[in-house]
Amino acid sequence: MTADEGSARQTLSVADLEAWVRRSAELIGEHAEELTELDAAIGDADHGTNMKRGLAAAVDAVGAGGFTAADALLKKVGTTLVSTVGGAAGPLYGTFFLRTGGALLGQDGIDARALAAGLEAGIGGIAARGRATTGEKTMLDAWSPALEALRTHPDDLAAGVAAAARAAAEGRDATKPMVATKGRASYLGERSAGHIDPGAASTALLLAALDDVVAARTV
Ligand code: ADP
Ligand code: MG
Repeated sequence: MTADEGSARQTLSVADLEAWVRRSAELIGEHAEELTELDAAIGDADHGTNMKRGLAAAVDAVGAGGFTAADALLKKVGTTLVSTVGGAAGPLYGTFFLRTGGALLGQDGIDARALAAGLEAGIGGIAARGRATTGEKTMLDAWSPALEALRTHPDDLAAGVAAAARAAAEGRDATKPMVATKGRASYLGERSAGHIDPGAASTALLLAALDDVVAARTV
C-alpha cells in the first residue's frame, strides 16, 4: 500500500458519502415494511414509508448534484429529508444531516476524528430539535452509543465505523424495554415498553450502510 492509499483508507471522500446515501436508501428500502411494523406497534405506521420516500429523494438529489464538497452534499441530503420524509423523523434526520454537514465545512477527506465531530454536531441537532436525551426511547438511543463507539477508534476509520454500526444495533435493541417519553410513542406511556423504537431501527440501518460502504472499499 502506498502512503496515499494508506491515508485514503483513513478518510471518507465525497464519493464515499454519496455511496453511503445510496446504500442507506437500499437498506431502508429493504427494511421499510419492518420499520412500518415497528411504528404500527407504538406510533402511526408510517416510519418505513416516510424513510423510504425520503432516502429515494436523497439519492436523486445527490446524484443530480455533482457535489465536490462533503458539507454541500450532506446539507443537500438534510434539506431533501426535511421536505420529503414528513412526521417527526423528517425534521430530525434533516437537522442531523444539516448540522453534520455544517461541522464538516470545507473538509475533503473525513477521518475518524472529523467524522466523530460531525456526528456529534448532528446528534446535538437531533437532541435540540427533539428536546430529547438518551433513555427516552428515540433514535438518540442508537446515535449516541454509535458516536461513543466511533470515538474509541480515533485513528482507525474502518474499525470505528464497524464499532459504531454494532453499537447502534445494540442501542436499537436496548430501546425495547424502555418507556417512551418523547414523540408519538409517549402517548402510550407504559404500554410503549416491549417494542423496539422505529427511529432507533432506521438509525441502525444508516450506520450499517456506512459500515458496508467503508468495508467494501478497496482503498
Ligand atoms: P411520526 O412519529 O411523526 O409518525 P416517524 O414515524 O417518521 O414520525 O418517526 C418516529 C421516530 O422519530 C420515533 O421512533 C423516534 O425515534 C423519533 N422521534 C420522535 N420524536 C422524537 C423526539 N422528540 N426526539 C428524538 N427523536 C424523536
Ligand atoms: Mg410514525
